[in-house]
Amino acid sequence: MENPFVDLTVVPMYGKFASRLVWKVQAGYEKGKFIIFRSPDGLNNWQDLGSISGIMGSFVDENLIPRGRMDEAFYKVVLQYNGKRFDSDVVSTFGKIKRSEFGVARVIMEHEWVSLKLFTPVKFFKLRTDGAPCPRCTEPDTDMKVGLSLCPVCYGTGYDGAYYPAVDTFMHIGVISPKVQEDSREGTGSADPVTIQARTAAYPMMEKGDMIVNPMADRRYLVETINYGWLNGKIPVYAESQMTLLARNNIRYTYPLK
Ligand SMILES: [Zn+2]
Repeated sequence: MENPFVDLTVVPMYGKFASRLVWKVQAGYEKGKFIIFRSPDGLNNWQDLGSISGIMGSFVDENLIPRGRMDEAFYKVVLQYNGKRFDSDVVSTFGKIKRSEFGVARVIMEHEWVSLKLFTPVKFFKLRTDGAPCPRCTEPDTDMKVGLSLCPVCYGTGYDGAYYPAVDTFMHIGVISPKVQEDSREGTGSADPVTIQARTAAYPMMEKGDMIVNPMADRRYLVETINYGWLNGKIPVYAESQMTLLARNNIRYTYPLK
């Protein structure tokens, strides 16, 4: 019997610790029930992630990066239609990357991870780009305002909670330099901003405005710029970032760590 699956792809959503599966089936079959499975090796331990009925043809796996780094995951979709069962092909998170390239990248990332673990344990808070709207701001404020005018509920993101749940990871602080800047960014006049250069794992990928917290010392950093080290120009294997150490009176210190 012909398999109605035309296509199945996985797109890692690095920023959101998730991956999106998108599939296409032949006309008519969209009305079936689609069950999504994940396996660590593409062969065994298929875990049922949930099912979807309807014509959407996509599913988001929210647990792509459970421990601060990304491991390869394999997916398949099973279609139940008119009492019949159809299995899609098996696809991997790194489907578009050659296995050998991923193998090398994995070795480098593993090495990075092992050396980073010798340094500072941190919590990585990623700014929300979706979610429930901020109850305080009437309309989303996408302007990254920093200072006393920052909304204490959404921190300028427009989304309730401001950050996604934190990911535990590590960072290695390299250079620390006081900011040569007359006006403090905090706008309080009492701040003493310090810029650090830090090395972190490539995943989850950071963006400007994300927050890194050293929970032991409760030091909170705002990510300013990020440079990735790339393998073959395709796979990021580590990140070097510039971050500002936030002054103690910054509103972000009120953000709960748990
Ligand atoms: Zn707000």
